[in-house]
Amino acid sequence: KPMENRITDIGPQKYDKFYPPVIAKNKGKWLYHEIIKPGVLVHVAESGDECYTVRVGGARLMTVTHIREICEIADKHCDGHLRFTTRNNIEFMVDSKDKVEPLIQDLESRKFEGGSYKFPVGGTGAGVTNIIHTQGWIHCHTPATDASGPVKATMDVLFDDFKDHRLPAQLRVSLACCLNMCGAVHCSDIAILGYHRKPPLLDHEYLDKMCEIPLAIAACPTAAIKPAKVKFGEAELKSVAVNNDRCMFCGNCYTMCPSMPLADQEGDGIVIMVGGKVSNRISTPKFSKVVVAFIPNEPPRWESTTACIKKIVEAYSAGANKYERVGDWAERIGWERFFDKTELEFTHHLIDDFRDPAYYTWRQSTQFKF
Ligand code: SF4
Ligand code: SF4
Repeated sequence: KPMENRITDIGPQKYDKFYPPVIAKNKGKWLYHEIIKPGVLVHVAESGDECYTVRVGGARLMTVTHIREICEIADKHCDGHLRFTTRNNIEFMVDSKDKVEPLIQDLESRKFEGGSYKFPVGGTGAGVTNIIHTQGWIHCHTPATDASGPVKATMDVLFDDFKDHRLPAQLRVSLACCLNMCGAVHCSDIAILGYHRKPPLLDHEYLDKMCEIPLAIAACPTAAIKPAKVKFGEAELKSVAVNNDRCMFCGNCYTMCPSMPLADQEGDGIVIMVGGKVSNRISTPKFSKVVVAFIPNEPPRWESTTACIKKIVEAYSAGANKYERVGDWAERIGWERFFDKTELEFTHHLIDDFRDPAYYTWRQSTQFKF
């Protein structure tokens, strides 16, 4: 049988196949767009056509039942079209204004048992949008904190700002559950970062059987691992030794070698960083800086983490000028005053003291870590 034109499930299909007709018709010919109210945008084309978008909060992990309900809403209101944003928001698009209110009413009438929104409308403009995050305890091997748990707890605390535009500018919150940062927390207004504080354990009995020792050694960015022979009962086993003083608890070795685990209930927790952004509006893009060196993991609701984030958001909301991002505000008032305003404690852990002579970076200033 000829194989041409066979539809497979290998890779995504070409994106333009899924354009709503109004988008396909006006591609490259849009005049402007604006946010009509929190969660609702309009794009106006040269032809006079309009595309209204209603944005609702989603989750990074969704059940099939939930996705089916999203599709059912898209079928009912949007001729089957919808899109997901990079922050896991869901966007429903319609081609006329009179279709917007029925769509919003339908979305907001759908509630979970207990009354919370299934499809909250918001996440645009000078407010909080969905938290982008990584895999967490269930889906990755090196996390120092969970992802979905702290994200859910944080979004519950910030939920009013998802549906509102009261903040001076957009506020992006991200979470990465280890400092390998597949969640890009290094450039977020507020970043939640999982952090290990102990070097890997060495499971000598199994290490040589489970791991390629040269790979584990090569995986270490600070050259803290070297080959070693260790006594195990009567036997002498091939294994590794770790120079704990050089270890920065990154977990790369564990990625290569399951016999070098470093998850630890006491050692693991959360670092809060602030002031990063990728936009070059007002000021150049910035990295986030560490403002809280450690908060223990507190499942299921991460009370200390969420209280800390709420304090930062409230101080920013009260003190920043319109359009200033968190980092712009902190730089204008000075980082010392940032700590006063947010009532966060300034400690020596927040000063960049990385002083490995191999890198010739002896500390010469009191720059914050980033
Ligand atoms: Fe895994 Fe680290 Fe990414 Fe979390 S941030 S999913 S632990 S690589
Ligand atoms: Fe090296 Fe990172 Fe492993 Fe420490 S945790 S030994 S720095 S690879």
